[in-house]
Amino acid sequence: MRKILIVGAGQSGLQLALGLQSQGYEVTLMSNRTADEIRSGRVMSTQCMFDTALQHERDLQINFWESQAPRIEGLGVSVAAPGSHAAPDGSVRAIDWVAKLDGYAQSVDQRVKMAGWMETFAQRGGQLVIHGAAVSDLDFFASRYDLTLVTAGKGELVSMFGRDAARSPYDTPQRSLAVAYVHGLGPRPEHPDVEAVRCNLVPGVGELFVMPTLTTSGRADILFWEGIPGGPLDVFQDIKDPNEHLAKTLELMETFLPWEYARATKVELTDGNGTLAGRYAPTVRKPIGRLPSGGLVLGVADVVVANDPITGQGSNSASKCAAAYLASIVEHGDKPFDGDWMQATFDRYWDTAQHVTKFTNAMLAPPPEHVLNIIGAAGQVQSIADRFANGFDDPSDLDNFFYDPDKANAYLASVTG
Ligand SMILES: Cc1cc2nc3c(=O)[nH]c(=O)nc-3n(C[C@H](O)[C@H](O)[C@H](O)COP(=O)(O)OP(=O)(O)OC[C@H]3O[C@@H](n4cnc5c(N)ncnc54)[C@H](O)[C@@H]3O)c2cc1C
Repeated sequence: MRKILIVGAGQSGLQLALGLQSQGYEVTLMSNRTADEIRSGRVMSTQCMFDTALQHERDLQINFWESQAPRIEGLGVSVAAPGSHAAPDGSVRAIDWVAKLDGYAQSVDQRVKMAGWMETFAQRGGQLVIHGAAVSDLDFFASRYDLTLVTAGKGELVSMFGRDAARSPYDTPQRSLAVAYVHGLGPRPEHPDVEAVRCNLVPGVGELFVMPTLTTSGRADILFWEGIPGGPLDVFQDIKDPNEHLAKTLELMETFLPWEYARATKVELTDGNGTLAGRYAPTVRKPIGRLPSGGLVLGVADVVVANDPITGQGSNSASKCAAAYLASIVEHGDKPFDGDWMQATFDRYWDTAQHVTKFTNAMLAPPPEHVLNIIGAAGQVQSIADRFANGFDDPSDLDNFFYDPDKANAYLASVTG
């Protein structure tokens, strides 16, 4: 039986651990926190996952919360008109539409999912080691395993993997992030029956994403500000009190997005750990890390491709990466997991991840005219809105119409005549 060490118990690490376990591999999982510590700890993400990524969980039969989590059927875009302040009736929106996703999306609080998956892994006989691994630990342990996978997210172990400058156009954070999980949010009055991710864009300032989730206390909604560094939304870093964080979130909504504020006047935090603030530079890394004694380890998901959450892709990518790596491991049979195999395994994932990275980095930049035309036309023609929204599930389709002005114009002409 082949022995595999997985370091980090997030979306990719646990999905891989459970997948390998079900195929008969002997898996050891190292986590720096216990399931209870994760469950009672701070929120980590907004973790909205689209159909393709959710399908990988269904394939492994680990979609334990699918029937309880809200089904996100739509994705909406609203753009604040320049200089708009006030008018809670929503009249200040320059663009406002909601598209239909072909398959529903879902957000299950990672505190719920990772704690539950970790307990399942242990119940199924997996070896769980609670330890924050350092490079020296990996050096010691790796030689005892056929393969060591580093799935530790954006933590310190990324220092083992060199930055891929050619694939990383930004070297500083492009957004400050501020998340609040709340109960008591009202529906959007213009389509109260549609559960949707609402993307609210404030040109030159940032974005607010609002979406339903399943958290430790049941159904909730997430208010997620992404602020351009140094701008008016970049004010959460020094706020330590969660209620102050929520008050600032709402104050900024009232100022910039009165239509979202109007349904948020009665919200309260889900729990004392329901807020998160931070920032990081989007970075693609080289996939293979070399240990001091010469052994090789393979990086997974955020360790090797960490995009800004502006397009809500990281958990999706972690699921897709875990699925691709699982297939590569199983297909490799009893052959050695050498450097060539590691590179080929990452390259297979990069086929998908390159489209996610391109989409995300494009959305961080000010939109060019042809993108504004697409987003504007989506308000007139439903099929344009639907195609753009489904690009969040499969960003490779965006290559066909979104980035290149000629392709965008040809697409719009073909749809609108
Ligand atoms: C504010 C915010 C909003 C987001 N919203 C979305 C969204 O809507 N949709 C989406 O798809 N993605 C979203 N993401 C991104 C998504 O959460 C991540 O990309 C995804 O969780 C990455 O999965 P992973 O398995 O690579 O790492 P993680 O999920 O980060 O898991 C890594 C695990 O390793 C553990 N660890 C770290 N260091 C060590 C160590 N030395 N030893 C042992 N364990 C260690 C960590 O504690 C953690 O449990 C968001 C991210 C943020 C910050």
